[in-house]
Amino acid sequence: MRFLVVDDSSTMRRIIRNNLKAVGFDDTLEAENGEGALARLQSDKVDFVITDWNMPVMNGIELVAAMRSNAALKATPVLMVTTMAEKENILQAMQAGVTNYVVKPFDAATLKKKIDQILSG
Ligand SMILES: [Mg+2]
Repeated sequence: MRFLVVDDSSTMRRIIRNNLKAVGFDDTLEAENGEGALARLQSDKVDFVITDWNMPVMNGIELVAAMRSNAALKATPVLMVTTMAEKENILQAMQAGVTNYVVKPFDAATLKKKIDQILSG
């Protein structure tokens, strides 16, 4: 199972990557914004995307919208990891096509729970 972790913060990418590793997922690619993520998704097989919302160049909402309008990427699960915790933010993300949502800060157990929910749903 290969993950793509998308965040403009290298620290955050490392934290997510370490959390994934802690719960048994060690095949992880990285991108620093939506544009880099789309390039990765074209060149590599990715099973699951974990993305930040706020990023320069192309943000997480724009990334998800682009994925959902692409036949090859339409069904790939996207978990959004963000500090944007207001109800209307979550609604906006879900409407854009995000599969599920985690508010920062979070721990490895929470991340695993969300991933399991998505994979079993
Ligand atoms: Mg960010």
